[in-house]
Amino acid sequence: MSVQETVEHKYVYDFAEGNRELKDLLGGKGANLAEMTNLGLPVPPGFTITTEACKAYLATGAEPDGLAGQIATHLASLEQAMGKRLGDPEDPLLVSVRSGAKFSMPGMMETVLNVGLNDRSVVGLSAQASAGGDQAGADRFAWDSYRRLIQMFGKTVCEVPGEEFEHALDDVKRAKGTPNDLDLDADDLRGLVDAYKKIFFKHTGREFPQSPREQLDLAIRAVFESWNAERAILYRRQERIPADLGTAVNVVAMVFGNLGPDSGTGVAFTRDPASGAQGIYGDYLANAQGEDVVAGIRNTVPLQELERLDKKSYDELLGIMARLEGHYQDLCDIEFTIERGKLWMLQTRVGKRTAAAAFVIAGQLVDEGLIDLDEALHRVNGAQLAQLMFPRFRLDHEFQPVAKGIGASPGAASGKVVFTSARAVELAAEGESVILVRRETNPDDLNGMIAAQGILTSRGGKTSHAAVVARGMGKTCVSGADEIEVNVPQRRFVVGGQTVVEGDVVSIDGTTGKVYLGEVPVMPSEVVQYFEGSLDPEHIDNALVRAVHRIMTHADTRRRLAVRTNADTGADAARARRFGAEGIGLCRTEHMFLGDRRELVERLILARDNAERDAALAALLPLQRADFEEIFREMDGLPVTVRLIDPPLHEFLPPLEQLAVNVAVAQERGEDVAQEEALLAAVRRMHEENPMLGLRGVRLGLVIPGLFAMQVRAIAEAAVSVTRSGAVAKPEIMVPLVGAVQELETVRAEAEKIIAEVVGDSGVEVLIGTMIEVPRAALTAGQIAEAAQFFSFGTNDLTQMAWGFSRDDVEGAFFWRYLELGIFGISPFESIDRDGVGRLVRIAAEEGRAARPGLKLGVCGEHGGDPDSVHFFHEVGLDYVSCSPFRVPVARLEAGRAVVETGGSDSR
Ligand code: PEP
Ligand code: MG
Repeated sequence: MSVQETVEHKYVYDFAEGNRELKDLLGGKGANLAEMTNLGLPVPPGFTITTEACKAYLATGAEPDGLAGQIATHLASLEQAMGKRLGDPEDPLLVSVRSGAKFSMPGMMETVLNVGLNDRSVVGLSAQASAGGDQAGADRFAWDSYRRLIQMFGKTVCEVPGEEFEHALDDVKRAKGTPNDLDLDADDLRGLVDAYKKIFFKHTGREFPQSPREQLDLAIRAVFESWNAERAILYRRQERIPADLGTAVNVVAMVFGNLGPDSGTGVAFTRDPASGAQGIYGDYLANAQGEDVVAGIRNTVPLQELERLDKKSYDELLGIMARLEGHYQDLCDIEFTIERGKLWMLQTRVGKRTAAAAFVIAGQLVDEGLIDLDEALHRVNGAQLAQLMFPRFRLDHEFQPVAKGIGASPGAASGKVVFTSARAVELAAEGESVILVRRETNPDDLNGMIAAQGILTSRGGKTSHAAVVARGMGKTCVSGADEIEVNVPQRRFVVGGQTVVEGDVVSIDGTTGKVYLGEVPVMPSEVVQYFEGSLDPEHIDNALVRAVHRIMTHADTRRRLAVRTNADTGADAARARRFGAEGIGLCRTEHMFLGDRRELVERLILARDNAERDAALAALLPLQRADFEEIFREMDGLPVTVRLIDPPLHEFLPPLEQLAVNVAVAQERGEDVAQEEALLAAVRRMHEENPMLGLRGVRLGLVIPGLFAMQVRAIAEAAVSVTRSGAVAKPEIMVPLVGAVQELETVRAEAEKIIAEVVGDSGVEVLIGTMIEVPRAALTAGQIAEAAQFFSFGTNDLTQMAWGFSRDDVEGAFFWRYLELGIFGISPFESIDRDGVGRLVRIAAEEGRAARPGLKLGVCGEHGGDPDSVHFFHEVGLDYVSCSPFRVPVARLEAGRAVVETGGSDSR
């Protein structure tokens, strides 16, 4: 035997021995009961068996050595404290045996009450309970307690089917002609105890255990085992609670809220967990036990009623609540019981709350001097802020979803269904709200997406075109709702046997991914109104807006990371600026080549000679210049990173099949199809099996002479003209999809010549940098940095190429299985994969800065607005994150939180 094994582990803690810091060992409930005990609050005496004991039991299937003896010792002190013995026939001590893990898992694990009752002690309990004089009431109480023990013990400890007990209870009530448990008298309940014992025997082949200690041991074992009950496992998976924590077990002296009208039980919050408003919130039920409140058998009354029923207990409770809030410096929720006018605290914890309440309460606690602004910032998060920024459905009526897809861009939208971009634009122009429904979207749907209230697709994941563009616009989108069969030519979709045609109204929830038929009413977000500048926090009586303002202002003073936005229109740029963006980190130029410019692009691609190509480029130049002027003007004084054109070439050309059919039909009719034939040949030539890995990004610029040059000229000319008009343009030209420094050098050499020529002595400075979005670029960052004035990580492509996951397909296709298997806990397209993709970012940042000290580093993939990823980018030392306009406030908040959580410096 090793030395270690000879030292007996401490597996049991008296409430007086623990404290709230010991949640890992004592679970949340046990740690907080200990904390309250040490505060001198009225907690029934008891002890906690540690999670260590549970883990040891689950690992070996047997109680660890020493546990039984330690339980005996603590039970003895408990008996001494109460002046009673467990199950004593004259005056029994009864205990509850309750689970309590580190993280709350409501209702997932087991509890057994009234342990210690048996055929003899039930009589003693009755005798003690009748001290007030009501013998019939006392008998009833004792037998009711006993039948509850057999029921709970049978179900929990011995897996007797719970319905059998319920049916037996129903039979007794039926025989008595009453639907109400309270109408049953002691004789009825004694009969029920007999019936329950028979059920117990039938299923277990043994009598209901009469030994109190055996009851206790078996109940403790059952609580240990409930950690691995199927529902607990599912809950943990969903809530991302680690599977190896185990549960603690709390053994607590029973106190009874069902001893008559001067007894009762209740729950309370120290503030409103929905709105955060100060006040007393809670429910009370006289003459009842906690489980009756949960079961909803009788209606509770508002807690304030207790003042009338039992002023002394009410005042004491209020005093305790104030004390707990002061002590925990946060909203607490509480369970309590009053036994014959004596108040007992059964549980407390820092209470769950809505997103709005989280901000309001954090602000209030600062006002009250309980916490400082750093702590307030720590107590809210970007996911809560994001929730507050989207309009919400008022689901107070019964609305059943007809399909569920991926919540791709949050918000709530209702409108008439349309299936084409053109129809969306038409109806929107008539003032209608529309929902654009497609199998999937492509850049040609852009006008329709702008016109629509929301976008619904039956294919694609969170980084599909629909999702990314919708998020960029702050527009609601549900993608990958594959129960929906979309038929665009017939302008209809079918879901669950129902057909929805153009003009029918649907509602989509981009947070939950749910789709509803009909119109669900929507409420706008006041937090967005505040960010937009239409609500002044200093002059309105809105606690939420004031709290958000205050905490955001603090986040801004704390954060080191700058926050930019991804925007490619003047309107988006302006909105993002109002939301606090400090520049544009990614202006994608591809959409500037669509719509009515498509014909020019076709001419460019199909040019038979230099003259034709130059003509097309010359026609595009002023259009591009105007695009950039608009954006530079909106971002006056702030940096604007313009990315040279990126998408696969085929996106500019008509679909191959359709074109082939058109040409064949026209030929049949004997029409002149020379132009179409040339187009068809070009489309065939450019067809790629794998366009995402094909001719795009810098490759396109190197293959089509003059294309990048035209864009560089347009950028430089726009910067000069904006500067001449009195504003300040700070352009940064970014080359996409670079994998080798030579690609960048070639583009840069040409670009610098043009810039020098255009800029002259205007004072405009143009930086040239690159995206790092191909793994090879990350791995050769030291070389690439020699030619780049900045790096911006394109984590969408970097994730796609590091994992080999097609970003448009995999999320909807099979990620559910990967999540189920725990291969990852969240899509790597949503939150940065720190170990893999994150490592590439780290390597590139370090090697890039080693080669070029002070190299400016940013990120412009979707991860730039993801809360957890923002913390990672802070850690890695990037200079800024860039994200869609609506996520700018989230990124600001999280960048501030990253500083306070790492105890970092507060200067930028
Ligand atoms: C990226 O790949 O992360 C990126 C920002 O570029 P895009 O999404 O346009 O490919
Ligand atoms: Mg990219």
